[in-house]
Amino acid sequence: MTNVADYFGSKVFNLPTMKARLPKETYKSLLKTINEGTPLDASVAEVVANAMKDWAIENGCTHYTHWFQPMTGTTAEKHDSFIEPIDDGTVIMEFSGKNLVVGEPDASSFPSGGLRATFEARGYTAWDPTSYAFIKDDSLCIPTSFISYTGEVLDKKTPLLRSMNAIDRETKKILKLFGKEPKKVIAYVGPEQEYFLVDKELYSKRKDLMLTGRTLFGAMPAKGQELEDHYFGQIKERVSAFMKDVDEELWKLGVYSKTKHNEVAPAQHEVAPIFSTCNISADQNQLTMELLKKIANRHNLVCLLHEKPYEGINGSGKHNNWSIGTSDGENLLKPGKNPKDNVQFLLFLAAIVKAVDDYSDLLRVSVATAGNDHRLGANEAPPAIVSIYLGDQLTKIVENLITGKKTKEERLGILDTGVDSLPTLQRDATDRNRTSPFAFTGNRFEFRMPGSSQSVSGINIIINTIVAEALSQFYDELEKEEDIRHAAMDVAVRAFKKHNRVIFNGNGYSEEWVKEAESRGLLNLKTTPEALPCFASKKSVSLFEKHGVFTKVETVTRTEILLEDYYKAINIEVLTMLQMAKQEILPACLEYASFIVSDISSKEGIGIKVPKEKALATKLSKLTESLIASIDALQTVSDKAPATDNALRLATYYKDKAIPAMDKLRSVSDELETLVAKDYWPFPTYTDLLYRV
Ligand code: ADP
Ligand code: MG
Repeated sequence: MTNVADYFGSKVFNLPTMKARLPKETYKSLLKTINEGTPLDASVAEVVANAMKDWAIENGCTHYTHWFQPMTGTTAEKHDSFIEPIDDGTVIMEFSGKNLVVGEPDASSFPSGGLRATFEARGYTAWDPTSYAFIKDDSLCIPTSFISYTGEVLDKKTPLLRSMNAIDRETKKILKLFGKEPKKVIAYVGPEQEYFLVDKELYSKRKDLMLTGRTLFGAMPAKGQELEDHYFGQIKERVSAFMKDVDEELWKLGVYSKTKHNEVAPAQHEVAPIFSTCNISADQNQLTMELLKKIANRHNLVCLLHEKPYEGINGSGKHNNWSIGTSDGENLLKPGKNPKDNVQFLLFLAAIVKAVDDYSDLLRVSVATAGNDHRLGANEAPPAIVSIYLGDQLTKIVENLITGKKTKEERLGILDTGVDSLPTLQRDATDRNRTSPFAFTGNRFEFRMPGSSQSVSGINIIINTIVAEALSQFYDELEKEEDIRHAAMDVAVRAFKKHNRVIFNGNGYSEEWVKEAESRGLLNLKTTPEALPCFASKKSVSLFEKHGVFTKVETVTRTEILLEDYYKAINIEVLTMLQMAKQEILPACLEYASFIVSDISSKEGIGIKVPKEKALATKLSKLTESLIASIDALQTVSDKAPATDNALRLATYYKDKAIPAMDKLRSVSDELETLVAKDYWPFPTYTDLLYRV
């Protein structure tokens, strides 16, 4: 057995590798760029490129690629070999500083929401030196941003980096008031990734899984998740072998893969790394998703990252654990040991409560996809209502602060005792509630709404920006204050008072909460088409422009892309359903009915009475009629889709018309599945898919 520590990061051009291979001065200035964001000198880039190339070639690479994250939500790569012809018909291996720093992929085939007309289809990729280059499939992969010829961003990384700048800038301003001047403030993310595994052979018999990533038909199996025997259960051998391979590959790529376990649903699992800097975490989560799929294939499995592969069975999310910390190692979301730090902690806490209340619509937008709409509010994931959970201890403190009719000094007194004795909040004390969309878990917040297939970039762009904004507003109030402790407490208490409505510690899955949230005036944007327009609202645009995260045009085009993603996903599901229903389910039902009918007639021919069998035949025929009617209805919905390129109209049409018609067709088919003999049913059932892994 090899020691993990020996091969961890072996496929990454990380700091030790850089240090070993770069001249001292080059290493120093690259480190400065990585740590402080100082621009990189062209001559330095040249030296780095050369060292990277040598390292890559020694490790078997023939190609390099700028690896970027277009708006598709996945990653893109175009590979160029290192070969450079020389006069005598041979080649040398070349990789210049310019090749490292910028690339020019043709941008015309990536979604841009109309941002970039094809005549100016040029796009640029620009190296993100803060995320290490790595080796994948014998290619040197360089994490990059992707921008259009005219300077608009076309990807998910650039705005994430911008939002990290915003949180860095605004947090530093606040910290300075407390007499602290760290070099850098960093947003950290630890994403927990849920997924399902399914046998490859069974998968390939289901068009719905192949084309849409989820089952569009399927009656509930006799055994669901009611025994609660899967969560943290023993891991099956085949799954365990798969997980071991995943870990090994992740470790080679420098991903701190830490936790693996079975999830709530049968055949559902989770993998989680140790948290790291937001953009690195986003890059690594993309790699994780890619590897899960690739390695599953090696084990004759398929990894489903869809948010809702099976109806009636828990869906998959991606819990986004988020915190902010300084380059001096201070976690700003950890209650401190002395009262002074606790004022600071409460101020940050108040900023987050304020951010979540002020911009709950944007948080909802950040998780709005066709797939995730099946989860949110479906009794298994936090509802579409955004609220924040602080846990009993903190809520008590906040309540005391809000209700205390005491003077400022006395209030501080309460805080001193209250907070002095406040133990470092342990996870156990803070995390009893798994139903909250945005929960404080002792030293970080866990945002539980994101869907399993989403890039975490979009989510953290929003969290970073809205918290930066709350901090910026606080700073404006505090800037001129002399007694920072008193003033900060005052600002925090006012914010807690004003935004108290968004704090909720109860059961987020309950019906009562939906009503109560409404009475508190909280938004409940149930579906993606209802949520997305908030992204480009006046309020959002001014937020994004203020912090240099998105321009107005970028918010409009992004909304457009996300709406398109939504209705296109549903359109593919509609077409897949129609095909399966017409070509597979209906013929199976007809065949089985005709088998029964001919059985009846031969029995009656010799005088055997079969009233029950006749009743069954009648039921089957009626349901089959209903199946045909539902197929026709869905076909009509599909045919009558408005001929418009207004994405919101189309998205709304598919939500209002297609989804109910799909539900109807499915429910008829699922009932038929329970009546038709197994041998006649045209594809594997839920029992097969969920239990034959
Ligand atoms: P859970 O009990 O919620 O399933 P896990 O252990 O699976 O928790 O995952 C928790 C995640 O939170 C891990 O990725 C972990 O590294 C991350 N995490 C821990 N502390 C922080 C922090 N300060 N900031 C961001 N993420 C953190
Ligand atoms: Mg977990």
